[in-house]
Amino acid sequence: MKRMLCSLFALSAALMWGGVSSGQGPGPGSGGEGTLTSAEEATLLQMREEEKLSRDVYAAMYETWQYKVFLNISQSEQHHMDAMLKMLDKFEVADPVGDNPPGVFNDGDFSALYGDLVAKGETSLLDAFLSGGYIEEMDILDLEAAIAETDKPSLTNAYSNLLAASRNHLRTFVSHVRSMGEEYEAQFMSQDAVDDIVGDFDLTPSKGFVMNAGLNDAWYFPGTDGQGFFLTVLPEQKMAFMGWFTYETEPPGETCQARLGDPAHRWITAQGTFAGGQAHLEIDITHGGVFDMGDPLPMHQAAGSILLQFDDCMSGSVYYDIPSIGRSGLVPIRRIANDNVALCEQLSGTGTAAD
Ligand code: MN
Ligand code: MN
Repeated sequence: MKRMLCSLFALSAALMWGGVSSGQGPGPGSGGEGTLTSAEEATLLQMREEEKLSRDVYAAMYETWQYKVFLNISQSEQHHMDAMLKMLDKFEVADPVGDNPPGVFNDGDFSALYGDLVAKGETSLLDAFLSGGYIEEMDILDLEAAIAETDKPSLTNAYSNLLAASRNHLRTFVSHVRSMGEEYEAQFMSQDAVDDIVGDFDLTPSKGFVMNAGLNDAWYFPGTDGQGFFLTVLPEQKMAFMGWFTYETEPPGETCQARLGDPAHRWITAQGTFAGGQAHLEIDITHGGVFDMGDPLPMHQAAGSILLQFDDCMSGSVYYDIPSIGRSGLVPIRRIANDNVALCEQLSGTGTAAD
């Protein structure tokens, strides 16, 4: 299937960051909390750039993968940057970020880390989630140290909010790694500390969104261009039907022939019920049929399951589990074209406003 709208999405992500204000000049005063120690000041400067590192890496990951989780978390990191800027203003410390564009940092360590994490995250979606986990683990440890270091209530409060968000972000990235059939191994923290935070957390559907006929469309993932899904939602019956057009797990040998198309062509169908933004589908594989003939009758074979999840009208996730080939994973899907978005929003009663 064709790649059509990627550049639009990338552009809107870039625009959202337009106005990062620079904290020049004295702020509204420290409100009776006195001045920062040099350690507190160094930490605050570091946290302001560390939140920028998170924001910039996730934005780059969104540009690469067009997977909405990265956009949402990147926007959350913008709020964290803003919170750190408020603290800089309050304690009259000059902002190290100013108008620095994405990937540019005052602290050279962050510049190097940005390059490494983006390079890793561009190699695969799994690596992108692992890069996210790396950042959040680092962030959690730094924020815990920052909280232990200060006795200023406003700083403790600001850092605590960021810490809670980082724990959430870590849960999200780890659960995505797990949804791809991989174990998440701690990168900075102890494995026990990570496990305590993540627990049995599972991907949960966002509140409020209900699957509807406006989702009936062709969907694909830019990372596997040339493959894709057709989805039909039947709202009255609370049923969903999916066709997945994909390929054999390995290219067939050169001697393998087909009369029509490539011998590696595969199509899989799946159907089942949905509730809210989630559908549980059973995968069905047919075999033994002949092109446009009713005889012989094809045979049906159950092959596995798909959990289909939508948080809004623009993007969804296909979590598949096919035991017969030992494969499970996640395909983040988006529409080939946006003609039915308005219908979907009307039917679901929700917009696509992020966050
Ligand atoms: Mn953050
Ligand atoms: Mn974060």
